[in-house]
Amino acid sequence: MANQLKGAVNQLNKVAQIMGLTCDELEILRRPDRVLEVSLPVLMDNGRMKVFTGYRVQYNNIRGPYKGGIRFHPRVNLDEVKALAFWMTIKCAVADIPYGGGKGGIAVNPKILSRGELERLTRAYTRGFADFIGPKTDIPAPDVGTTPQIMAWLMDEYSHINGENIPAVVTGKPVEVGGSLGRETATGLGGFYVLEQVLSKMKMAKSKTSVAVQGFGNVGMNFALIAYRAGYKIVAVSDSRGGIYNASGLNLAEVLAHKQATGSVVDFNKAKNITNEKLLELPVEVVVPAALENVISEQNAGRIKAKIILELANGPTMESAEAKLNKKGVLVVPDVLANGGGVIASYFEWVQNIRQYYWDQDKVEARLKEKIVAAFEKVWQTMEAGGNREMRNAAYIVAVERLVKALRTRGI
Ligand code: NAD
Repeated sequence: MANQLKGAVNQLNKVAQIMGLTCDELEILRRPDRVLEVSLPVLMDNGRMKVFTGYRVQYNNIRGPYKGGIRFHPRVNLDEVKALAFWMTIKCAVADIPYGGGKGGIAVNPKILSRGELERLTRAYTRGFADFIGPKTDIPAPDVGTTPQIMAWLMDEYSHINGENIPAVVTGKPVEVGGSLGRETATGLGGFYVLEQVLSKMKMAKSKTSVAVQGFGNVGMNFALIAYRAGYKIVAVSDSRGGIYNASGLNLAEVLAHKQATGSVVDFNKAKNITNEKLLELPVEVVVPAALENVISEQNAGRIKAKIILELANGPTMESAEAKLNKKGVLVVPDVLANGGGVIASYFEWVQNIRQYYWDQDKVEARLKEKIVAAFEKVWQTMEAGGNREMRNAAYIVAVERLVKALRTRGI
């Protein structure tokens, strides 16, 4: 994970050099504004007390309140949270929404906690950071291992502490307590809109575009279903147990039914089983990593045959792999652009909470499209102006330019 932080800082240094940033400006962007760590005593079902460690990193708020998810995962550590908070700062600036970046987490496996333990842990986390979060200061959201229900507990605890209902303190809530229609599918849908733009720029026909998707959770499954319904040939999908492949295309409705019945996509009768590693190396036009970080490395980059990598997971391509892919002419559509649909819909949820006026799903999706297509266009133009196919650099240039402009205008 320290790798991710190093990669993030290296990326920043690289674009700072291209942009000719002064050392002072770079120094501000290289460090998080505030790093918080709290002890969280939680009463477990067996009657004993267990003390967890909770993190919140408030990276930068020059463009608006800190914004970013809370991750519950055994491998959570401070360096990882810092890297994720930095990426949120870049992502919100690329999407041009009025937020800075933050992230939080607890090193815990939520799957082994009872519902009551999970609720007490979430409420303890909320109390631990209650003085630092809020609709105008820092707005958490779900991430790996946290759910809409967890966001509802956070909102409830924070509202109790403050003596009034404050739904805008957190996004990704269930619809019945102030969540937005369309938030659940927004990351996959945003990724789909970005892919459509890429194909149009590259003059590729969707009927001739085969796609392999790694990860069949919220992001991967929704993306795959949307793309399938729009006429793309989805030839492979996978989850933590492995993948399935059919060169003629999968019937995604049947795959979904199989996953619902068996708990996995593996052993689907109209496809052959493949590994998650092989899925990335299939002869397809588009590979979509939508599960884990660091899955494309220096080792397998040379074997990737796709023309386009659409990063829907955070950080799936290692820094060492990217140069190789660029050299091969593979277009890497970076996470900070491709998966921005989630935070854009979160922004809409926050706006609706503040205005207490709720939109229908069509309106959410139309505005999501408007925002993410505008972000894509800006990044694409910046990339073309640079005379290369390094889209991540272009996205960082767009973001850092916006951050530095805000910094210069506000003064330090
Ligand atoms: P999820 O938990 O809903 O789904 C993850 C999927 O990955 C599951 O299908 C799981 O089986 C699969 N998986 C787990 N281990 C795997 C392995 N070793 N190989 C292949 N697949 C494996 O999570 P999600 O919300 O879909 O998030 C996926 C990624 O997208 C994460 O990197 C997350 O940070 C990123 N992301 C999510 C959102 C969002 O709105 N949910 C927004 C932006 C970015």
